[in-house]
Amino acid sequence: RGWRIPSVLQQAKLLLKERLREGSIVVDATVGNGHDTLFLAECVGETGKVYGFDIQKEALASAEARLSEAGLLSCVTLFHAGHERMADALPPEAKGRIQAVTFNLGYLPGGNKEVVTRPETTLQALQTSHDWLAPGGIITVVLYTGHPGGKEEENEVLQWARNLDQKHFQVLWYRFLNQRNHPPTLLAISRNQ
Ligand code: SAM
Repeated sequence: RGWRIPSVLQQAKLLLKERLREGSIVVDATVGNGHDTLFLAECVGETGKVYGFDIQKEALASAEARLSEAGLLSCVTLFHAGHERMADALPPEAKGRIQAVTFNLGYLPGGNKEVVTRPETTLQALQTSHDWLAPGGIITVVLYTGHPGGKEEENEVLQWARNLDQKHFQVLWYRFLNQRNHPPTLLAISRNQ
């Protein structure tokens, strides 16, 4: 079907995949129905560890069913908690050893569109992710602006990321300029080794 530039979601997976190994420790900060959680679990395997966060119980149940069907539940721990509580929920020994953190912001497709991620809690979770990231680790954030509050959240997240010290972090903003109707964009933050 000819060459296509990877979509935002494909590019996020490409960036994650090249960093992850069997045995890596990773976090899915917005589990939802668990598509990304499953992808992460496949990347890190049974010897790895995936920690997941979501505030919606039904979403976590659907994610759990997906992981169980794939036989990958054993390497996953799901927290029914906001990602802003990451620093309390994760085991202290994970600090400095997290190879990847993924965020897929906004609302759950097919779910309650009023339950959305919010700038204040998102920034808190990003800061913890930044503090706990292993050298060579990566944070990916898929940003949506089509819903109320989405643009403000994107602005705040980009402002935070823009200020990270380039001696220690690379910050990439990946987006398609000619797509209509508020296309998602991808922010990636890589900690130097
Ligand atoms: N990647 C997910 C999937 O594969 O289905 C979709 C994620 S969806 C775009 C965003 C999710 O973030 C929703 O499920 C929502 O409940 C969750 N969320 C909202 N606020 C949150 C918070 N403070 N902490 C963790 N998750 C939150």
